[in-house]
Amino acid sequence: MIFMTTMILLWGHTAHSAVLIKDKLWQKGTVLNVLFLDGTPELQQLVIVTAPEWLQNTSLSFQFFGHSSKPPRQTHIRVSFSLHSGSQLGDHQDYASKYPTMNLFDLTSEQISDSGARRLILHEFGHALGFEHEYRSGFWPYGEKVIEEIIVDCYPKMQQIGYSRLAAIERCKNINAPIAASVAHLTAYDELSIMNYQMSFVDSDGRKKQIKPAVNLSLLDRYAMQRWYVR
Ligand SMILES: [Zn+2]
Repeated sequence: MIFMTTMILLWGHTAHSAVLIKDKLWQKGTVLNVLFLDGTPELQQLVIVTAPEWLQNTSLSFQFFGHSSKPPRQTHIRVSFSLHSGSQLGDHQDYASKYPTMNLFDLTSEQISDSGARRLILHEFGHALGFEHEYRSGFWPYGEKVIEEIIVDCYPKMQQIGYSRLAAIERCKNINAPIAASVAHLTAYDELSIMNYQMSFVDSDGRKKQIKPAVNLSLLDRYAMQRWYVR
């Protein structure tokens, strides 16, 4: 049944989407060293039990290192719980630096729910494995207006982390632009992907639309991992 559903979604759908960037893929079989640069044992443990869900039935694995242990010579994902929340995309080629590649500041908020924490960890590790936001597919079905709203919402966040106003505008446009199909491995557009944003908007046909925040990897999230990080 699961297989049938996947088949329909992948090949029965004329629009394709989502969005694993080809030149950001980690090499097959990589053991990704994940180094915690800070954070309480509880926060680190939450990441350690949640993030590996991405890697089931793939050729990748994680090895986690606490900040008090001696770090390995090469680190692939460096996690800090300070400043903001976000992640570099996939293989960034910088394995020797001590700077974070992923920030999970929102996990330190007392307001965050268990499901919100789970969503944040899975979403940011999706980026760390090379996934871009689902709405950046050229086959996004709901029109440009909602994407323009995402871009406008982005400006103050970029300025908060140090961008000038003009640089923030440039950056927000870049990171929300549609991604050319030639640079990404794609599945069908996947409303349920953990890489989709939670959104509420009126689509190009005037219909009210709500995209709920996913808290689990979707069927196609897992499919993409297993296909393009095949064992
Ligand atoms: Zn994101």
